[in-house]
Amino acid sequence: MASWIPHFIDGTTFEGRGGRSAPVYNPATGAQSGEVALASAGDVDAAVQAALSAFPAWAATPPLRRARILNKFLSLLERDADRIAAAITAEHGKVLSDAKGELTRGMEVVEFATGAPQLLKGEITENVGSRIDSHALRQPLGVVAGITPFNFPAMVPMWMFPVALACGNCFILKPSERDPSASLIIAELLAEAGLPAGVFSVVQGDKVAVDALLQHPGISAISFVGSTPIARYIYETAARTGKRCQALGGAKNHMVILPDADMDLAVDALMGAAYGSAGERCMAISVAVPVGQGTAEALMAKLEPKVRALKIGPGTEAEAEMGPLVTRQHRDKVLGYIDAGLAEGAKLVVDGRDFRMQGYEDGFFVGGTLFDHVTPAMSIYREEIFGPVLSVVRADDYATATRLINEHEFGNGTSIFTRDGEAAREFAHGIQVGMVGINVPIPVPMAFHSFGGWKASLFGDHHMHGPEGVRFYTRLKTITTRWPTGGLRSAGADFVMPTMR
Ligand code: NAD
Repeated sequence: MASWIPHFIDGTTFEGRGGRSAPVYNPATGAQSGEVALASAGDVDAAVQAALSAFPAWAATPPLRRARILNKFLSLLERDADRIAAAITAEHGKVLSDAKGELTRGMEVVEFATGAPQLLKGEITENVGSRIDSHALRQPLGVVAGITPFNFPAMVPMWMFPVALACGNCFILKPSERDPSASLIIAELLAEAGLPAGVFSVVQGDKVAVDALLQHPGISAISFVGSTPIARYIYETAARTGKRCQALGGAKNHMVILPDADMDLAVDALMGAAYGSAGERCMAISVAVPVGQGTAEALMAKLEPKVRALKIGPGTEAEAEMGPLVTRQHRDKVLGYIDAGLAEGAKLVVDGRDFRMQGYEDGFFVGGTLFDHVTPAMSIYREEIFGPVLSVVRADDYATATRLINEHEFGNGTSIFTRDGEAAREFAHGIQVGMVGINVPIPVPMAFHSFGGWKASLFGDHHMHGPEGVRFYTRLKTITTRWPTGGLRSAGADFVMPTMR
């Protein structure tokens, strides 16, 4: 029996009046597990009205009190971590240990947001003019919305709402319709932690809900994470409707392996970064760039047997290293890329197309796939595949390797494996990418730094969480003060631009 997955509005579950819904699948078995409500514009309006009503009191709540609710929420997340991870695995397909890992990374942002009183401290300058003081403070924006992708149903929303709430905003989450259940557990736990009704709502839905959020005059800002075409659409539409926007898009992350790299370290790092979560990570490494033919041969000799030995299975199986893809449609898209790579002349070293598992014949599995001799003109190099497909592009020298990265459309993450400090520093300094790892394959910044890419991987001015998140979810007000004390007398109207006397 497919379970019904509703919205969560004004402190309680809400069936919605849209009359539309969509199936949700268990990717390991291919069977439908749920049916999710799809919001109408009216349902979105109900969430916005609840948030607008809740906003004045929430914005006026002392930051320390807001932080205490987030602290309670953190302990509830710890209490229910297994339940949340199980919900993620059941709908996304990733292995349970990975689902717990994403939850941990999300909880770190909640921990960061519990520092609200410190994060929101303003600035003051005494005596900007004679007996005049100036202070600057950051105030919440109002009602803000987050639109999130399927690949991190807990962590990506948690990049956004803990900081938004800590800053005094009300938040409406529109999760992916492919794995919506984690969002409801989060909403329940926030309510249990004492968050007032209307401060956090979930509207389930598709493009109809997204467009209603983009058009609604009650919404001040939109945070988006997803694919680049939709990120561009969100950013352009938000600009037209006068909303602040940060829209994070797709990726094609390269790992450069220099001849002096510790090859065992590099290969193990590459395995996790390319095939973990079946490659459905925006920080997955999908291109390996060994520098020099000797490096390429050494890399392939170690990599190929490891790709063949990948343990693939349902996410609930303890030994599985990699689960299925999220939907049948996405699996077919990934298979299409493998066909295209072959047709374009890349060497298919390990072919994951025929992977089958007894008892899970209808699951959305693709085996680990490895291409060698990939060239920059091929679609498997240019486009984001978002599956367990690693392309090796051989570079003759360091300059060729870095030019590849700098000329690529995307600029989310990259890494270099080397023992040469000078090369590593030059790489970090010069590369045109937002997040860089040195002997670290997936350089996802911690919660107190900020997450974001460059080029077609991010539209907008602010990265997520950390100091950039606080800036995004607040606006600056600067107050200049003079008190009529100490014999201050009016010297008459002054019609010139005020200057310091
Ligand atoms: P997606 O773009 O299909 O969907 C993202 C969100 O947009 C979902 O909530 C979806 O309902 C909504 N949406 C989809 N089509 C829409 C449309 N036509 N109009 C309006 N809204 C629409 O992305 P996805 O497949 O869920 O997630 C995978 C993508 O997300 C990959 O490209 C991945 O790189 C990217 N991603 C990026 C980051 C990052 O930090 N840059 C992080 C995670 C995922």
